[in-house]
Amino acid sequence: MTIALSRLDLMLSTFEVVKVLWVMAFGACLGSLVNVLVYRIPLGLGVVTPPSRCPSCETRLTWRENIPIFGWIFLGGRCRFCRSPVSAEYPIVEAVVALLFGATYVMLYAEGGRFLGLDLRPLMLEWGAGGFSQTWPLFVSVVVLWTCLTASLLIDARTFHIPIVLTWIPALVALVAHVGLAFHLSATQGGLTKAAPGWDWAIPTPGPHGWGWVGASIGGMLGLGVSNILLARGGITRSFADYDQWLKTHEAKEINPDPAGIETPPQHNVGSSQLPASAEPASAATSSAGGPEMWIQYPHARREMLRELIFLAPCIGLMLLGAALAIRWAGPWTHSPFSGDFPAHTVPLWLNIMCGVFMGYLIGGGVVWLWRILGSLAVGKEALGLGDVHLMAGVGACIGWIDSVLGFFAAAFVGVIWAVIGRVASGKLQRHLPFGPYLAVGTVLVWFLKQPLELLLTLVLRSPERIHLP
Ligand SMILES: [Zn+2]
Repeated sequence: MTIALSRLDLMLSTFEVVKVLWVMAFGACLGSLVNVLVYRIPLGLGVVTPPSRCPSCETRLTWRENIPIFGWIFLGGRCRFCRSPVSAEYPIVEAVVALLFGATYVMLYAEGGRFLGLDLRPLMLEWGAGGFSQTWPLFVSVVVLWTCLTASLLIDARTFHIPIVLTWIPALVALVAHVGLAFHLSATQGGLTKAAPGWDWAIPTPGPHGWGWVGASIGGMLGLGVSNILLARGGITRSFADYDQWLKTHEAKEINPDPAGIETPPQHNVGSSQLPASAEPASAATSSAGGPEMWIQYPHARREMLRELIFLAPCIGLMLLGAALAIRWAGPWTHSPFSGDFPAHTVPLWLNIMCGVFMGYLIGGGVVWLWRILGSLAVGKEALGLGDVHLMAGVGACIGWIDSVLGFFAAAFVGVIWAVIGRVASGKLQRHLPFGPYLAVGTVLVWFLKQPLELLLTLVLRSPERIHLP
């Protein structure tokens, strides 16, 4: 009997491992896509065509060589034709994305909270309790986020520029996944079945009585639309619009002893034309003199922050107006001494969830933008790029505003630790580093360590009850 049981256990756990390996194989393929994006976006090349080639001799890769991780091992890290070495970064990126996918799956759906004999319950997130079949769209939006964060990290580290499309893709996928699942649950189950007590949704949402938040988030999104239309029509001016002009006159003054000896980095202005009110640090950096060292010398950062505040004015105004209108519309409000005020109408599930995604986008991006504006006003130099604002807006849409804000602060810790390591390793302090990589790492850490983080907060704040972040 015991033997039969253990054999059944073994079969079940093998089945579990096979499922996770499938998820990881899928992750490795998307890791392969990350390699393509990282190589091609900064060069302005298409993603689907041309097919993958050896960068040195342009020999096309066969299907076998295109297999993630194993293709590289199969080739022994060299091109089949010209024998030039192929960077180990490719299989490493594929392996990292594969691990992220597998770990995300296990963190949400491990049977009985165990995987490979490890008790994962102190780490697992509650919203996976409904199982993969129930919550797979939300899983997809999380792993799409990991894919885009990995690509943003690598591109930002090299070019000081985050392609805006990599922040929009996760935001759009999150909107479709969350709202789609909400509609599906309303249609099939008549609403939300709670997987765990106190659980509402995978991300913080306004809640059934949160009309103020509903109005504010819709107003905020409309405000962003208004500002972007004004920007496109020339009603308001893009910030840092005169940077190129300033760079030219400034460079003319500089004596350049050996212009031919300076290696020109590839052009990386993809997406910069779509940025609202922005010029990215590196989007203007088409020569080495226009890199971050020059960018930091631009003298009008304070003045440009005013432009960005004007850009944000419709967003803030419509947020307040939206909140006031929604609260009024939902009335009359009844006061109950037990459950507080509640409105005549409750927020429908799909609207609640949609506004949760909007709140994530607005607050996630807003906190970084606020930091950028205050920081730039304080030091008179541009603090944080608008690419970072977009990145954390996308993060907020996928995993909620709380995780996005925590990820932003975690990024500062990651940055400090990385600077200390760099100092020890190289003996000197690198001054101008892009912040995007820290944001990406900080976000992933916060998502995977949510439960330990809640425990830490409970201890630090000496809360009598365990703090639970939605
Ligand atoms: Zn070759």
